[in-house]
Amino acid sequence: TTDFGIKEALATLGLKDINEGTSTGSNNFSNGEIIESYSPVDGKLIGKVKSTTKEDYEKVMTTATAAFQTWRTMPAPLRGEIVRQFGDKLREKKEALGKLVSYEMGKSYQEGLGEVQEMIDICDFAVGLSRQLHGLTMHSERPGHRMYEQYHPLGVVGIISAFNFPVAVWAWNTALAWICGDVCVWKPSEKTPMCGVACQNIAAEVFAANDLPEGICCLINGDYKVGELMSKDTRIPLVSATGSTRMGKIVAKEVAGRLGKTLLELGGNNAIIVTPDADIKMTVIGAVFGAVGTAGQRCTSTRRLIIHDSIYDKVKDAIVKAYGQLRIGNPLDENNHVGPVIDKDAVKGYQAALTKVVEEGGKIIVEGGVLSGEGYESGCYVKPAIAEAKNSFKIVQHETFAPVLYLLKYSGDVTNALDAQNGVAQGLSSAIMTNNLREAEHFLSVQGSDCGIANVNIGTSGAEIGGAFGGEKDTGGGRESGSDAWKVYMRRQTNTINYTTELPLAQGIKFDL
Ligand code: NAD
Repeated sequence: TTDFGIKEALATLGLKDINEGTSTGSNNFSNGEIIESYSPVDGKLIGKVKSTTKEDYEKVMTTATAAFQTWRTMPAPLRGEIVRQFGDKLREKKEALGKLVSYEMGKSYQEGLGEVQEMIDICDFAVGLSRQLHGLTMHSERPGHRMYEQYHPLGVVGIISAFNFPVAVWAWNTALAWICGDVCVWKPSEKTPMCGVACQNIAAEVFAANDLPEGICCLINGDYKVGELMSKDTRIPLVSATGSTRMGKIVAKEVAGRLGKTLLELGGNNAIIVTPDADIKMTVIGAVFGAVGTAGQRCTSTRRLIIHDSIYDKVKDAIVKAYGQLRIGNPLDENNHVGPVIDKDAVKGYQAALTKVVEEGGKIIVEGGVLSGEGYESGCYVKPAIAEAKNSFKIVQHETFAPVLYLLKYSGDVTNALDAQNGVAQGLSSAIMTNNLREAEHFLSVQGSDCGIANVNIGTSGAEIGGAFGGEKDTGGGRESGSDAWKVYMRRQTNTINYTTELPLAQGIKFDL
């Protein structure tokens, strides 16, 4: 059997394999319990990483806060130059990192490479942005006065990330935070610790080559307890947390309790509305990729298809037929469409969802099931399943992080579809498939989708880095990546300068001495 070049990839990324000890990564003082990382691809141990203790965390924070003193005084375009070099380093290591992402997380190699490409893209975006951290000037009401606002760095940004985008989410945050003059402390998911160490090694090389303090880029490892150290820490003005709504609610409360800021990127329950004017071929491609890509473990995965009753059977048949052609297996083998889910707990969640949808009155139309036998030894491969359901079902309201797609029927006009689409707690991504201008515009209007992302004739899954990324309601309200998302990583200051010999007060108030 081939290892698909994993050993070589680990070496390229400065990671130790299981016979060589634990991978710590630079500027990582971790001395705690060992986290073993098993691949969902073949069930084998990939490597070991030490978790961060409270004492280790204090050391990290000392280096980070000290590094901030240097980094914040470096002109933003020069910080951009460092991010440019980081992007170049990612280009060099793209194949190795993409492979590790695929092997440790289970998404396809193509998607692994895509994730690294997103990191490169956000670096390019950040480099340009480093010369465009614009404030505003405004007219003062007082004569001889000038007024403007400017943005300053915040300090230490804490990043907590999920397993499903083990490298890109970190880069979305760091590339922007760095050009803004912040330093970052990152806690990757305990399910993908090797990806964390690999990224840390790549970034640390760039900072070392430029004689910059390592503390600009810090890594801490472990589970929620290590994450809690950051949410409780008043030295961290901003915690950017990506993961489940459950986690987001805990972190939000903790950080708000000390009046810190959060950027929350939480769960989705994304739907595609398929109207009578939809292009069926495009709908099938968008829906199937959206539902089974990354084995249904994207925050933007398509979970619900809301189909007009006049074309329901036609769309259903086309999708069921497409599911029949899916090949499930090793995601490093490019012939396969669907890889494993992250672990056996995810398999249980998937099985429970299929049981529940039937209990609530749904009908399974593409059978699920856990695969076993050769090639499926990890026990994490499941068959993408489809159920006919109702939006009101509890299970349909819930984000099951697995390849389970619910078909829902609507009748009448698009407002009925929108009621279902918006009728869930989450508000991340949404789409409409239609060639009808009125429907499309209604969907995008104030009466339309209530999600952070609303697409026309594109599925729900995936996004470009140029736009602000995030969602409303239980998705947490944060915006990351493109557009003006950088502003959350900075503090705004309003400045008024008097260049006269008088001291007039605002609002015409007189105060004669
Ligand atoms: P998770 O919530 O279990 O874990 C996410 C991260 O939070 C991990 O690093 C974990 O250790 C940490 N964490 C958990 N509890 C914590 C606490 N109390 N305090 C501090 N840190 C804590 O999520 P997961 O299973 O890794 O990822 C899947 C979820 O992430 C899905 O709900 C998915 O939709 C969501 N997600 C959202 C986005 C987005 O941009 N909106 C992107 C990716 C994933």
